[in-house]
Formats: sequence, structure tokens, C-alpha cells
Amino acid sequence: MGKIKRFIDCYIPTETCNLRCHYCYITQKRRFNAVIASFTHTPAEIRTALSKDRLGGTCLMNLCAGGETLLSQDVLPVVKELLREGHYVMIVTNGTISHRFDEILQWEEELLKHLFIKFSFHYLELIRLKWLDRFFENVNKMKKAGVSFTVEVTPSDELVPYIEEMKGVCLKNLGALCHITIARDDKTHGIEVLSALSWDDYKNTWNEFDSALFEFKTRIFKVKRKEFCYAGAWSYYLDLKTGRLKQCYKGNVLGNIYEDISAPIPQKPVGSHCPLPHCYNGHAFLALGDIPELPAPTYAEERNRICADGSEWLQPEVKAFMSSKLYETNKQYGLWKKKVIALNQWAVQRGIRDTRIYRLFHKA
Ligand code: SF4
Repeated sequence: MGKIKRFIDCYIPTETCNLRCHYCYITQKRRFNAVIASFTHTPAEIRTALSKDRLGGTCLMNLCAGGETLLSQDVLPVVKELLREGHYVMIVTNGTISHRFDEILQWEEELLKHLFIKFSFHYLELIRLKWLDRFFENVNKMKKAGVSFTVEVTPSDELVPYIEEMKGVCLKNLGALCHITIARDDKTHGIEVLSALSWDDYKNTWNEFDSALFEFKTRIFKVKRKEFCYAGAWSYYLDLKTGRLKQCYKGNVLGNIYEDISAPIPQKPVGSHCPLPHCYNGHAFLALGDIPELPAPTYAEERNRICADGSEWLQPEVKAFMSSKLYETNKQYGLWKKKVIALNQWAVQRGIRDTRIYRLFHKA
């Protein structure tokens, strides 16, 4: 079984949804604009642009829209091609569009072994729309077919009175408790927690779910990262429609993957100048190893659950792959190269072009 070579977080430009969660990031930023993604490149072209040869090995691709990822009919054909290429693919979804899961059921068994679905469990909306049964049918349909998955709740204050009820529903339908993420307030400069509770109360309230995901997220939330981060070399943020490749959410733009399909993917890490106030999605980037010296669980540990009947949410191949770290397959830089990159990143963030010394180092 392979190990992860790169992690690519792919943005799907769908900015609408069939749910209306009050904590949703597109609601907060008033970006419910009825746009459903359609790709200008064919699935085969996207696969070529993201080939294993070009990327140096087997990668983990995360496909996530601003709204509901599976609203767009263009997404699953791309997922299928990326799986055929040999990559592992994650889809983030609210789990309510049943015919998309029926479509996945038609795929070859070998492809399903490398597929992972992150079901966002929007409990109050599912109750309002009477879609709770539909949601769990879709989750269990995927489990039965051998697809790996996780179920995750965004812990909002409105959900607190329903904690016991929600736990019971999860145990009954999933055989285990759901995982817990952190609700962000993207309107705030510091990307704060979206809650009226104090940080300690928030942690105590949601710790009840004994979620490894929540445990790591609360450990790194609000902590400014100053270590050397390999995002931009080992991981990327990619707009899958336009091909615009960035180091990370707020890093530099590195180029366009569709412009010269034979060109190597640039490797220009952020280094020790992360522009964000904290690494709010470090449960992926940091758990996968972008900062090698930072103690972190494996991504598999954050996503898996062992059910009452002994079955697991992650299937063996996905579990093994998600247990590997980026620093196992990529060479770390020496001290001087790190210093030059840090200097260069500092300069680029101030509008100064790549320094000559950096370009020399990069050729080396
Ligand atoms: S520390 Fe986190 S947010 Fe910052 S560049 Fe690295 S991966 Fe991205």
C-alpha cells in the first residue's frame, strides 16, 4: 500500500446549497449566489494535469465546494478519473443528494477502496427537512459498498440542547459517535470560534464526544504557526475549475496547472511566514505532516471510528494511506535552504519578486 506524496485541497466553485445552516461559511460571507460549478476542462484533462507522474506519486485529493459539493453533476466524473489515476480522493458533502451516491455505487470495487467521504452532519437542518433517514441511508449505503467515510458535526451553540439526542441518533444509525470540528467565524480578523461560550466551556461541552478530530483541532486553534511549513511544496490549495494553484489558503499563487501540462508542479513552501492567524484546517495539513516536528495524530486517527459491532469507518487501504505522513516520502530541507526560503517569503509577501539567491537555491 502506498504512502502520501502530496495533499491537494481542491476548491469546487459551487456557492449554493440545498440546506441553510446558520453557521455556514457562505451564509456568513453572504455568498449564496446560486452558482453551481461546471468545469471547462474534461475529467480526462484534469486527470492529466494531476497525474501521478507530474505530482511525483500517489496523492490525497480533497474536493470541497463553498456550498454543497455534490450539487454539481461535473464533480463525480472528475473524482472517478482521479481514482483511476491511482490517487486517494475525499469528497466533502452534506449527504442528502441520494442519486449521487447511487451513481458511486455503479463504480468498480477497486475505485471505491480509495474513496473517502466526509459527511457533514447538519442535524437541525436534517430534522427541519425530515431528511434524517435519507442522510443515514446514504452513509450506510457507502459503508456497505466498501467506501471509507467519516461523520462530522459543526458544533454550534444552537445544537447544545440536542447533544444527548444527537448522540443517541449516531449510536443507533452509525454504531459510534460522530466526530466534532470547530465552528469558525470567518467574518472576524482572527478567525475566531463561532460561539458565545468561553473557549474552556466550548471545549468542555463538545469534548463529550471523545473525538480525536476535536482534540487536535482545539490544540492548534488560535495558535500562530511559526515553524517551517512545507505547504506550497508538499501540499497545495487548488481551484479545480480555473487551475489556479496556491501555496495554501492565503499563500502565494504558484501558477496554473492547466497552462503547461508538461511543466513540473512548483515547489515553493510557505516556510516560517504563514500569513494566517492560525492553521484552522491543520487537522488535515498538519496531521498529514506539513510541519514535521509538530506532534500530531495521523489523519486516519482523526477520521476513523470503531463501531459497536467491531467494523470501522475507514477501510484498510484508506486507513493505511491516511496513516502515512508527507515527511515520509518528501525530503526535508537543510537549515540554510530554510533560511533563504523564509527571507524570500518575507520579501514576496511585501511585493518584492523572488530573490536571486532563492532562485539559485531552488535550482540546487
Ligand atoms: S501553517 Fe497551516 S495555514 Fe499556514 S501555510 Fe501551513 S498549512 Fe497553511
